[in-house]
Amino acid sequence: MKKKNTSVKPLNFTSGWEYAPAPESADHIHLEKQYELFIDGKFVKPGKGKYFDTINPATEKKIASVAEADEQDVAKAVSAARKAYDKVWGRMPAPERAKYIFRIARMIQERSREFAVIETMDGGKPIRESRDIDIPLAANHFFYYAGWADKLNYAFPNQQPAPLGVAGQIIPWNFPLLMAAWKIAPALATGNTVVLKPAETTPLTALKLAELIRDSGLPDGVVNIVTGAGRTGAAIVGHPGIDKIAFTGSTDVGKLIQKSIAGTDKKLTLELGGKAAHIIFEDAPINQAVEGIVNGIFFNQGHVCCAGSRLFVQESVADMVIQKLKDRMETLIVGDPMDKNTDIGAINSKEQLQTILKYIEIGKNEGGEIYQSSCALPGKGYFCKPTLFLNSSQSHRIVQEEIFGPVLTIQTFRTIEEVIEKANNIPYGLSAGVWTDKGSKIFNLTSRLRAGVIWANTYNKFDPASPFGGYKESGFGREGGLHGLMPYLKF
Ligand code: ADP
Repeated sequence: MKKKNTSVKPLNFTSGWEYAPAPESADHIHLEKQYELFIDGKFVKPGKGKYFDTINPATEKKIASVAEADEQDVAKAVSAARKAYDKVWGRMPAPERAKYIFRIARMIQERSREFAVIETMDGGKPIRESRDIDIPLAANHFFYYAGWADKLNYAFPNQQPAPLGVAGQIIPWNFPLLMAAWKIAPALATGNTVVLKPAETTPLTALKLAELIRDSGLPDGVVNIVTGAGRTGAAIVGHPGIDKIAFTGSTDVGKLIQKSIAGTDKKLTLELGGKAAHIIFEDAPINQAVEGIVNGIFFNQGHVCCAGSRLFVQESVADMVIQKLKDRMETLIVGDPMDKNTDIGAINSKEQLQTILKYIEIGKNEGGEIYQSSCALPGKGYFCKPTLFLNSSQSHRIVQEEIFGPVLTIQTFRTIEEVIEKANNIPYGLSAGVWTDKGSKIFNLTSRLRAGVIWANTYNKFDPASPFGGYKESGFGREGGLHGLMPYLKF
Protein backbone atom coordinates (compact mmCIF):
# COMPACT_ATOMS: atom_id res chain seq x y z
CA MET A 1 0.00 0.00 0.00
CA LYS A 2 1.21 3.45 -0.82
CA LYS A 3 1.46 5.90 2.04
CA LYS A 4 -1.28 8.51 1.71
CA ASN A 5 -0.57 12.08 2.70
CA THR A 6 -3.39 14.39 3.36
CA SER A 7 -1.81 16.78 5.80
CA VAL A 8 -1.24 20.38 4.85
CA LYS A 9 1.99 20.50 6.81
CA PRO A 10 5.00 19.52 4.67
CA LEU A 11 6.22 16.09 5.65
CA ASN A 12 9.78 14.97 5.80
CA PHE A 13 10.09 12.10 3.37
CA THR A 14 13.83 12.07 3.17
CA SER A 15 14.15 10.07 6.36
CA GLY A 16 12.08 7.07 7.33
CA TRP A 17 11.18 4.08 5.23
CA GLU A 18 11.97 3.01 1.71
CA TYR A 19 10.60 0.33 -0.59
CA ALA A 20 12.65 -2.76 -1.24
CA PRO A 21 13.36 -3.13 -4.97
CA ALA A 22 10.70 -5.15 -6.79
CA PRO A 23 12.00 -5.57 -10.32
CA GLU A 24 9.96 -7.43 -12.92
CA SER A 25 11.93 -10.19 -14.58
CA ALA A 26 12.78 -10.02 -18.26
CA ASP A 27 13.88 -13.69 -18.35
CA HIS A 28 10.68 -14.91 -19.93
CA ILE A 29 10.74 -12.72 -23.01
CA HIS A 30 12.32 -13.43 -26.31
CA LEU A 31 13.71 -10.63 -28.45
CA GLU A 32 15.50 -10.92 -31.78
CA LYS A 33 18.75 -9.05 -32.34
CA GLN A 34 17.36 -7.75 -35.61
CA TYR A 35 13.77 -7.09 -36.72
CA GLU A 36 12.56 -7.07 -40.32
CA LEU A 37 9.48 -5.61 -42.00
CA PHE A 38 6.21 -7.53 -41.71
CA ILE A 39 4.77 -7.62 -45.22
CA ASP A 40 2.28 -10.09 -46.69
CA GLY A 41 2.41 -12.33 -43.62
CA LYS A 42 6.20 -12.67 -43.61
CA PHE A 43 9.19 -10.92 -42.12
CA VAL A 44 11.21 -9.51 -45.03
CA LYS A 45 14.43 -7.52 -45.22
CA PRO A 46 14.21 -3.89 -46.26
CA GLY A 47 15.13 -3.34 -49.94
CA LYS A 48 18.03 -1.01 -49.13
CA GLY A 49 19.24 -3.13 -46.20
CA LYS A 50 19.10 -0.20 -43.77
CA TYR A 51 18.48 -0.63 -40.04
CA PHE A 52 18.23 1.65 -37.02
CA ASP A 53 18.71 0.98 -33.32
CA THR A 54 15.99 0.94 -30.73
CA ILE A 55 17.32 1.59 -27.24
CA ASN A 56 16.12 1.23 -23.69
CA PRO A 57 15.73 4.83 -22.45
CA ALA A 58 16.22 3.78 -18.81
CA THR A 59 19.64 2.27 -19.47
CA GLU A 60 20.63 3.90 -22.79
CA LYS A 61 21.51 0.38 -24.03
CA LYS A 62 20.62 -0.89 -27.49
CA ILE A 63 17.88 -3.52 -27.51
CA ALA A 64 17.71 -4.44 -31.20
CA SER A 65 18.25 -3.31 -34.78
CA VAL A 66 15.08 -2.52 -36.66
CA ALA A 67 14.52 -2.36 -40.43
CA GLU A 68 14.00 1.01 -42.06
CA ALA A 69 11.38 0.89 -44.79
CA ASP A 70 11.76 3.16 -47.82
CA GLU A 71 9.23 4.07 -50.52
CA GLN A 72 9.63 0.73 -52.32
CA ASP A 73 9.13 -1.27 -49.13
CA VAL A 74 6.02 0.76 -48.34
CA ALA A 75 4.77 0.16 -51.88
CA LYS A 76 5.18 -3.60 -51.35
CA ALA A 77 3.22 -3.40 -48.12
CA VAL A 78 0.44 -1.39 -49.77
CA SER A 79 0.16 -3.82 -52.65
CA ALA A 80 0.03 -6.78 -50.21
CA ALA A 81 -2.74 -4.99 -48.30
CA ARG A 82 -4.63 -4.26 -51.54
CA LYS A 83 -4.41 -7.88 -52.69
CA ALA A 84 -5.58 -9.11 -49.29
CA TYR A 85 -8.47 -6.63 -49.35
CA ASP A 86 -9.60 -7.54 -52.87
CA LYS A 87 -9.14 -11.28 -52.63
CA VAL A 88 -9.84 -12.23 -49.02
CA TRP A 89 -10.60 -9.78 -46.27
CA GLY A 90 -13.02 -7.42 -48.04
CA ARG A 91 -15.12 -10.41 -49.14
CA MET A 92 -14.96 -12.50 -45.99
CA PRO A 93 -18.30 -12.94 -44.17
CA ALA A 94 -18.26 -10.63 -41.14
CA PRO A 95 -18.67 -13.39 -38.51
CA GLU A 96 -15.53 -15.03 -39.90
CA ARG A 97 -13.62 -11.75 -39.71
CA ALA A 98 -14.75 -11.39 -36.11
CA LYS A 99 -13.27 -14.78 -35.19
CA TYR A 100 -9.80 -13.66 -36.23
CA ILE A 101 -10.07 -10.42 -34.26
CA PHE A 102 -11.27 -12.30 -31.17
CA ARG A 103 -8.33 -14.64 -31.56
CA ILE A 104 -5.86 -11.75 -31.67
CA ALA A 105 -7.46 -10.30 -28.50
CA ARG A 106 -7.12 -13.60 -26.67
CA MET A 107 -3.54 -14.08 -27.79
CA ILE A 108 -2.60 -10.61 -26.49
CA GLN A 109 -4.12 -11.57 -23.14
CA GLU A 110 -2.20 -14.83 -23.09
CA ARG A 111 1.08 -13.07 -23.82
CA SER A 112 0.35 -9.95 -21.81
CA ARG A 113 3.31 -10.26 -19.47
CA GLU A 114 5.74 -10.50 -22.35
CA PHE A 115 4.15 -7.48 -24.05
CA ALA A 116 4.23 -5.47 -20.82
CA VAL A 117 7.92 -6.10 -20.23
CA ILE A 118 8.88 -5.25 -23.82
CA GLU A 119 6.73 -2.10 -23.74
CA THR A 120 8.52 -0.94 -20.62
CA MET A 121 12.00 -1.80 -21.92
CA ASP A 122 11.49 -0.07 -25.25
CA GLY A 123 9.51 2.97 -24.10
CA GLY A 124 10.55 3.64 -20.49
CA LYS A 125 7.09 3.62 -18.93
CA PRO A 126 6.66 1.97 -15.52
CA ILE A 127 5.89 -1.74 -15.67
CA ARG A 128 2.83 -1.11 -13.50
CA GLU A 129 1.39 1.06 -16.22
CA SER A 130 2.17 -1.22 -19.14
CA ARG A 131 0.97 -4.26 -17.16
CA ASP A 132 -2.24 -2.74 -15.77
CA ILE A 133 -3.24 -0.24 -18.45
CA ASP A 134 -1.60 -0.50 -21.87
CA ILE A 135 -1.73 -4.21 -22.52
CA PRO A 136 -5.17 -5.03 -21.02
CA LEU A 137 -6.67 -2.05 -22.84
CA ALA A 138 -5.06 -3.14 -26.11
CA ALA A 139 -6.62 -6.60 -25.75
CA ASN A 140 -9.95 -5.00 -24.82
CA HIS A 141 -9.95 -2.91 -27.99
CA PHE A 142 -9.65 -6.04 -30.10
CA PHE A 143 -12.41 -7.75 -28.08
CA TYR A 144 -14.66 -4.72 -28.36
CA TYR A 145 -14.28 -4.27 -32.13
CA ALA A 146 -14.46 -8.00 -32.78
CA GLY A 147 -17.95 -7.72 -31.32
CA TRP A 148 -18.95 -5.04 -33.84
CA ALA A 149 -17.63 -6.81 -36.94
CA ASP A 150 -20.86 -8.66 -37.75
CA LYS A 151 -23.20 -5.97 -36.41
CA LEU A 152 -22.35 -3.04 -38.66
CA ASN A 153 -25.81 -3.08 -40.22
CA TYR A 154 -27.29 -2.68 -36.74
CA ALA A 155 -24.80 0.02 -35.84
CA PHE A 156 -25.69 2.00 -38.96
CA PRO A 157 -29.19 0.85 -39.95
CA ASN A 158 -30.33 1.39 -43.57
CA GLN A 159 -26.98 2.89 -44.50
CA GLN A 160 -25.22 -0.14 -46.03
CA PRO A 161 -21.81 0.50 -44.50
CA ALA A 162 -18.89 -0.67 -46.65
CA PRO A 163 -15.12 -0.72 -46.03
CA LEU A 164 -12.82 1.84 -47.61
CA GLY A 165 -9.98 -0.47 -48.68
CA VAL A 166 -6.42 0.00 -47.43
CA ALA A 167 -5.77 2.08 -44.32
CA GLY A 168 -2.37 3.69 -43.67
CA GLN A 169 -1.87 4.11 -39.95
CA ILE A 170 0.90 6.05 -38.22
CA ILE A 171 1.28 6.00 -34.46
CA PRO A 172 3.42 7.69 -31.78
CA TRP A 173 5.64 6.39 -28.98
CA ASN A 174 3.62 7.07 -25.86
CA PHE A 175 1.25 4.05 -25.99
CA PRO A 176 2.87 1.87 -28.65
CA LEU A 177 0.79 -1.31 -28.44
CA LEU A 178 -2.39 0.43 -27.35
CA MET A 179 -2.23 2.88 -30.27
CA ALA A 180 -1.65 -0.04 -32.64
CA ALA A 181 -4.79 -1.67 -31.20
CA TRP A 182 -6.80 1.57 -31.49
CA LYS A 183 -5.89 1.71 -35.16
CA ILE A 184 -5.89 -1.93 -36.28
CA ALA A 185 -8.96 -3.28 -34.43
CA PRO A 186 -11.64 -0.97 -35.93
CA ALA A 187 -10.01 -1.16 -39.37
CA LEU A 188 -10.19 -4.97 -39.39
CA ALA A 189 -13.69 -5.07 -37.91
CA THR A 190 -14.97 -2.90 -40.76
CA GLY A 191 -13.29 -5.05 -43.44
CA ASN A 192 -10.28 -2.86 -44.27
CA THR A 193 -6.68 -3.98 -44.54
CA VAL A 194 -3.80 -2.15 -42.93
CA VAL A 195 -0.29 -0.78 -43.33
CA LEU A 196 0.83 0.41 -39.91
CA LYS A 197 3.97 2.26 -38.89
CA PRO A 198 4.97 2.39 -35.23
CA ALA A 199 7.15 5.22 -33.90
CA GLU A 200 10.88 4.86 -34.44
CA THR A 201 11.71 4.90 -30.72
CA THR A 202 9.16 2.21 -29.78
CA PRO A 203 8.76 -0.32 -32.59
CA LEU A 204 9.13 -3.54 -30.59
CA THR A 205 5.63 -4.29 -29.32
CA ALA A 206 4.18 -3.60 -32.78
CA LEU A 207 6.70 -6.11 -34.18
CA LYS A 208 5.76 -8.60 -31.46
CA LEU A 209 2.15 -8.00 -32.46
CA ALA A 210 3.20 -8.82 -36.03
CA GLU A 211 4.55 -12.18 -34.80
CA LEU A 212 1.30 -12.77 -32.94
CA ILE A 213 -0.77 -11.85 -36.00
CA ARG A 214 1.26 -14.26 -38.13
CA ASP A 215 0.72 -17.01 -35.52
CA SER A 216 -2.99 -16.22 -35.35
CA GLY A 217 -3.45 -17.34 -38.95
CA LEU A 218 -4.84 -14.00 -40.10
CA PRO A 219 -4.70 -14.13 -43.90
CA ASP A 220 -1.43 -12.79 -45.34
CA GLY A 221 -1.36 -9.09 -46.13
CA VAL A 222 -4.36 -8.09 -43.99
CA VAL A 223 -2.01 -6.39 -41.51
CA ASN A 224 1.41 -5.15 -42.62
CA ILE A 225 3.80 -3.46 -40.22
CA VAL A 226 6.59 -1.29 -41.59
CA THR A 227 9.15 0.42 -39.39
CA GLY A 228 11.09 3.62 -39.88
CA ALA A 229 10.91 7.31 -39.04
CA GLY A 230 9.22 10.32 -40.64
CA ARG A 231 10.29 9.43 -44.17
CA THR A 232 8.60 6.03 -43.93
CA GLY A 233 5.49 7.72 -42.54
CA ALA A 234 5.50 10.22 -45.39
CA ALA A 235 5.80 7.35 -47.90
CA ILE A 236 2.61 5.81 -46.47
CA VAL A 237 0.80 9.14 -46.58
CA GLY A 238 1.92 9.80 -50.16
CA HIS A 239 1.18 6.36 -51.59
CA PRO A 240 -1.70 6.54 -54.10
CA GLY A 241 -2.95 3.06 -53.14
CA ILE A 242 -3.92 4.17 -49.62
CA ASP A 243 -7.61 5.00 -49.10
CA LYS A 244 -7.46 6.33 -45.58
CA ILE A 245 -4.85 7.78 -43.25
CA ALA A 246 -5.21 7.53 -39.49
CA PHE A 247 -2.53 9.49 -37.68
CA THR A 248 -1.75 10.04 -34.01
CA GLY A 249 1.18 12.30 -33.22
CA SER A 250 2.30 15.89 -33.10
CA THR A 251 0.21 18.78 -34.39
CA ASP A 252 3.09 19.86 -36.68
CA VAL A 253 3.24 16.51 -38.47
CA GLY A 254 -0.57 16.33 -38.52
CA LYS A 255 -0.67 19.63 -40.40
CA LEU A 256 1.97 18.39 -42.87
CA ILE A 257 -0.10 15.27 -43.53
CA GLN A 258 -3.28 17.26 -44.01
CA LYS A 259 -1.53 19.50 -46.54
CA SER A 260 0.04 16.62 -48.40
CA ILE A 261 -3.22 14.75 -48.97
CA ALA A 262 -5.26 17.86 -49.84
CA GLY A 263 -6.84 17.37 -53.24
CA THR A 264 -6.73 13.56 -53.08
CA ASP A 265 -9.74 11.47 -52.10
CA LYS A 266 -7.94 9.90 -49.13
CA LYS A 267 -9.90 10.06 -45.93
CA LEU A 268 -8.15 11.37 -42.84
CA THR A 269 -8.41 11.29 -39.07
CA LEU A 270 -5.92 13.14 -36.89
CA GLU A 271 -5.37 12.77 -33.16
CA LEU A 272 -2.84 15.43 -32.30
CA GLY A 273 -1.49 17.38 -29.36
CA GLY A 274 -3.25 18.54 -26.23
CA LYS A 275 -2.91 20.88 -23.29
CA ALA A 276 -5.70 19.81 -21.00
CA ALA A 277 -7.18 22.04 -18.33
CA HIS A 278 -7.58 20.26 -15.03
CA ILE A 279 -10.04 22.29 -12.95
CA ILE A 280 -10.39 21.96 -9.18
CA PHE A 281 -13.30 23.75 -7.50
CA GLU A 282 -13.38 24.58 -3.81
CA ASP A 283 -16.16 22.04 -3.23
CA ALA A 284 -14.12 19.20 -4.77
CA PRO A 285 -13.03 16.13 -2.81
CA ILE A 286 -9.55 17.59 -2.43
CA ASN A 287 -7.56 14.47 -1.58
CA GLN A 288 -8.98 12.56 -4.53
CA ALA A 289 -8.44 15.59 -6.76
CA VAL A 290 -4.76 15.72 -5.78
CA GLU A 291 -4.47 12.04 -6.67
CA GLY A 292 -6.20 12.83 -9.97
CA ILE A 293 -3.74 15.64 -10.69
CA VAL A 294 -0.79 13.32 -10.05
CA ASN A 295 -2.33 10.63 -12.22
CA GLY A 296 -3.11 13.19 -14.92
CA ILE A 297 0.38 14.61 -15.38
CA PHE A 298 3.06 12.70 -13.50
CA PHE A 299 2.29 9.03 -14.09
CA ASN A 300 3.53 7.96 -17.48
CA GLN A 301 6.02 10.89 -17.33
CA GLY A 302 3.39 13.24 -18.78
CA HIS A 303 3.72 11.32 -22.07
CA VAL A 304 0.00 11.49 -22.71
CA CYS A 305 -1.60 13.79 -25.26
CA CYS A 306 -4.55 14.17 -22.90
CA ALA A 307 -2.29 14.84 -19.86
CA GLY A 308 -3.79 17.31 -17.39
CA SER A 309 -0.92 19.74 -17.89
CA ARG A 310 -2.66 23.01 -16.93
CA LEU A 311 -4.02 23.02 -13.41
CA PHE A 312 -6.68 25.59 -12.48
CA VAL A 313 -7.45 25.75 -8.76
CA GLN A 314 -10.13 27.89 -7.20
CA GLU A 315 -8.38 30.59 -5.18
CA SER A 316 -9.95 29.73 -1.83
CA VAL A 317 -8.40 26.23 -1.82
CA ALA A 318 -5.27 26.93 -3.85
CA ASP A 319 -2.79 26.97 -0.95
CA MET A 320 -4.14 23.73 0.44
CA VAL A 321 -4.19 21.95 -2.93
CA ILE A 322 -0.68 23.09 -3.79
CA GLN A 323 0.71 22.01 -0.44
CA LYS A 324 -0.94 18.61 -0.67
CA LEU A 325 0.33 18.25 -4.20
CA LYS A 326 3.89 19.04 -3.11
CA ASP A 327 3.59 16.51 -0.27
CA ARG A 328 2.35 13.87 -2.66
CA MET A 329 5.09 14.66 -5.18
CA GLU A 330 7.68 13.91 -2.50
CA THR A 331 6.34 10.35 -2.27
CA LEU A 332 6.55 9.68 -6.02
CA ILE A 333 9.23 7.18 -6.95
CA VAL A 334 11.17 8.14 -10.06
CA GLY A 335 13.49 5.51 -11.47
CA ASP A 336 13.79 2.02 -12.89
CA PRO A 337 10.66 1.47 -15.03
CA MET A 338 10.96 -2.29 -14.52
CA ASP A 339 10.49 -1.89 -10.76
CA LYS A 340 6.88 -2.45 -9.70
CA ASN A 341 7.11 0.39 -7.16
CA THR A 342 8.11 3.00 -9.72
CA ASP A 343 5.60 5.77 -10.37
CA ILE A 344 7.54 7.77 -12.95
CA GLY A 345 9.77 5.92 -15.39
CA ALA A 346 12.17 7.10 -18.07
CA ILE A 347 11.50 9.83 -20.59
CA ASN A 348 11.07 8.10 -23.93
CA SER A 349 14.16 9.48 -25.67
CA LYS A 350 17.10 11.81 -25.26
CA GLU A 351 15.47 14.25 -27.70
CA GLN A 352 12.25 14.31 -25.70
CA LEU A 353 14.17 14.88 -22.46
CA GLN A 354 15.94 17.80 -24.11
CA THR A 355 12.59 19.25 -25.21
CA ILE A 356 11.22 18.99 -21.67
CA LEU A 357 14.34 20.54 -20.13
CA LYS A 358 14.18 23.34 -22.68
CA TYR A 359 10.60 24.10 -21.61
CA ILE A 360 11.61 24.06 -17.95
CA GLU A 361 14.22 26.73 -18.76
CA ILE A 362 11.65 28.71 -20.73
CA GLY A 363 9.30 28.50 -17.75
CA LYS A 364 11.95 29.81 -15.39
CA ASN A 365 12.80 32.68 -17.74
CA GLU A 366 9.13 33.56 -18.09
CA GLY A 367 9.06 34.21 -14.37
CA GLY A 368 7.14 31.17 -13.14
CA GLU A 369 8.04 29.88 -9.70
CA ILE A 370 9.40 26.37 -10.11
CA TYR A 371 9.01 23.51 -7.63
CA GLN A 372 10.50 20.07 -8.15
CA SER A 373 10.37 17.07 -5.87
CA SER A 374 13.60 16.35 -4.03
CA CYS A 375 14.03 12.81 -5.40
CA ALA A 376 17.40 11.72 -6.76
CA LEU A 377 17.48 10.71 -10.41
CA PRO A 378 19.31 7.59 -11.64
CA GLY A 379 22.80 8.28 -13.02
CA LYS A 380 22.06 6.67 -16.38
CA GLY A 381 19.03 6.97 -18.62
CA TYR A 382 16.66 9.82 -19.41
CA PHE A 383 14.77 10.96 -16.33
CA CYS A 384 13.01 14.13 -15.25
CA LYS A 385 11.79 15.20 -11.84
CA PRO A 386 8.09 15.95 -11.47
CA THR A 387 7.89 19.71 -11.83
CA LEU A 388 5.37 22.43 -10.92
CA PHE A 389 5.25 25.99 -12.16
CA LEU A 390 3.38 28.13 -9.68
CA ASN A 391 2.03 31.58 -10.58
CA SER A 392 1.84 30.73 -14.25
CA SER A 393 0.02 33.10 -16.50
CA GLN A 394 -2.07 32.56 -19.58
CA SER A 395 0.49 34.14 -21.91
CA HIS A 396 3.39 31.93 -20.80
CA ARG A 397 4.68 29.56 -23.45
CA ILE A 398 4.70 26.73 -20.90
CA VAL A 399 0.95 27.30 -20.50
CA GLN A 400 0.22 27.51 -24.22
CA GLU A 401 2.49 24.83 -25.72
CA GLU A 402 2.49 21.08 -25.35
CA ILE A 403 5.52 19.90 -23.33
CA PHE A 404 4.80 16.15 -23.21
CA GLY A 405 6.62 15.71 -19.93
CA PRO A 406 5.97 15.72 -16.16
CA VAL A 407 5.58 19.50 -15.99
CA LEU A 408 2.45 21.08 -14.54
CA THR A 409 1.55 24.77 -14.69
CA ILE A 410 -0.72 26.14 -11.98
CA GLN A 411 -3.13 29.06 -12.25
CA THR A 412 -5.83 30.11 -9.84
CA PHE A 413 -9.35 31.34 -10.61
CA ARG A 414 -12.29 32.86 -8.77
CA THR A 415 -15.38 32.28 -10.92
CA ILE A 416 -16.63 29.60 -13.26
CA GLU A 417 -16.79 32.13 -16.14
CA GLU A 418 -13.15 33.00 -15.64
CA VAL A 419 -11.97 29.40 -15.65
CA ILE A 420 -13.98 28.49 -18.75
CA GLU A 421 -12.49 31.47 -20.57
CA LYS A 422 -8.95 30.54 -19.54
CA ALA A 423 -9.36 26.82 -20.15
CA ASN A 424 -10.63 27.41 -23.69
CA ASN A 425 -8.08 30.07 -24.54
CA ILE A 426 -5.61 27.67 -26.11
CA PRO A 427 -5.04 26.24 -29.60
CA TYR A 428 -5.76 22.69 -28.39
CA GLY A 429 -8.97 20.96 -27.35
CA LEU A 430 -8.35 17.29 -26.67
CA SER A 431 -9.37 16.73 -23.07
CA ALA A 432 -10.10 18.32 -19.71
CA GLY A 433 -10.88 17.35 -16.13
CA VAL A 434 -13.18 18.84 -13.54
CA TRP A 435 -13.44 18.16 -9.82
CA THR A 436 -16.50 19.37 -7.92
CA ASP A 437 -19.22 18.09 -5.66
CA LYS A 438 -21.96 19.60 -7.83
CA GLY A 439 -23.38 17.73 -10.79
CA SER A 440 -24.85 20.94 -12.20
CA LYS A 441 -21.40 22.52 -12.32
CA ILE A 442 -20.08 19.50 -14.17
CA PHE A 443 -22.84 19.73 -16.78
CA ASN A 444 -22.40 23.47 -17.14
CA LEU A 445 -18.68 23.10 -17.71
CA THR A 446 -18.73 20.07 -19.96
CA SER A 447 -21.10 21.78 -22.37
CA ARG A 448 -18.90 24.88 -22.56
CA LEU A 449 -15.37 23.50 -22.51
CA ARG A 450 -14.05 23.01 -26.03
CA ALA A 451 -12.51 19.60 -25.45
CA GLY A 452 -13.29 16.21 -26.94
CA VAL A 453 -13.06 14.23 -23.70
CA ILE A 454 -13.89 15.60 -20.27
CA TRP A 455 -13.45 13.58 -17.11
CA ALA A 456 -15.42 14.48 -14.00
CA ASN A 457 -14.04 13.60 -10.57
CA THR A 458 -11.55 11.25 -12.18
CA TYR A 459 -8.85 11.52 -14.84
CA ASN A 460 -7.23 9.52 -17.64
CA LYS A 461 -9.83 6.78 -17.67
CA PHE A 462 -10.21 4.86 -20.90
CA ASP A 463 -12.66 2.35 -22.20
CA PRO A 464 -12.90 0.86 -25.69
CA ALA A 465 -16.60 1.74 -25.79
CA SER A 466 -16.06 5.45 -25.32
CA PRO A 467 -14.94 7.68 -28.20
CA PHE A 468 -11.78 9.78 -27.97
CA GLY A 469 -10.66 12.71 -30.13
CA GLY A 470 -10.21 16.45 -30.22
CA TYR A 471 -11.29 19.90 -31.25
CA LYS A 472 -9.23 22.65 -32.89
CA GLU A 473 -5.51 21.85 -33.30
CA SER A 474 -5.98 18.59 -31.41
CA GLY A 475 -7.35 17.08 -34.62
CA PHE A 476 -10.59 15.56 -35.85
CA GLY A 477 -12.30 12.21 -36.06
CA ARG A 478 -12.97 9.87 -33.16
CA GLU A 479 -11.36 6.62 -32.11
CA GLY A 480 -13.05 4.16 -29.79
CA GLY A 481 -16.69 3.25 -29.44
CA LEU A 482 -19.26 3.20 -32.22
CA HIS A 483 -17.83 6.52 -33.47
CA GLY A 484 -14.49 4.83 -34.05
CA LEU A 485 -16.01 2.60 -36.76
CA MET A 486 -17.18 5.50 -38.92
CA PRO A 487 -13.81 6.73 -40.25
CA TYR A 488 -13.25 3.26 -41.73
CA LEU A 489 -16.57 3.05 -43.54
CA LYS A 490 -18.32 4.58 -46.51
CA PHE A 491 -22.09 4.74 -46.58
P1 ADP B 1 5.93 12.88 -31.51
O1 ADP B 1 6.28 14.29 -31.21
O2 ADP B 1 4.85 12.28 -30.68
O3 ADP B 1 7.12 11.99 -31.73
P2 ADP B 1 5.56 12.88 -34.32
O4 ADP B 1 4.41 13.52 -34.99
O5 ADP B 1 6.93 13.38 -34.61
O6 ADP B 1 5.17 12.95 -32.82
O7 ADP B 1 5.56 11.32 -34.58
C1 ADP B 1 4.40 10.54 -34.63
C2 ADP B 1 4.52 9.54 -35.73
O8 ADP B 1 4.57 10.22 -36.98
C3 ADP B 1 5.80 8.70 -35.68
O9 ADP B 1 5.48 7.38 -36.07
C4 ADP B 1 6.70 9.38 -36.69
O10 ADP B 1 7.68 8.54 -37.24
C5 ADP B 1 5.69 9.80 -37.75
N1 ADP B 1 6.11 10.91 -38.62
C6 ADP B 1 7.02 11.89 -38.36
N2 ADP B 1 7.12 12.74 -39.41
C7 ADP B 1 6.24 12.31 -40.35
C8 ADP B 1 5.83 12.77 -41.65
N3 ADP B 1 6.37 13.85 -42.19
N4 ADP B 1 4.87 12.10 -42.31
C9 ADP B 1 4.29 11.00 -41.75
N5 ADP B 1 4.63 10.51 -40.55
C10 ADP B 1 5.58 11.14 -39.84
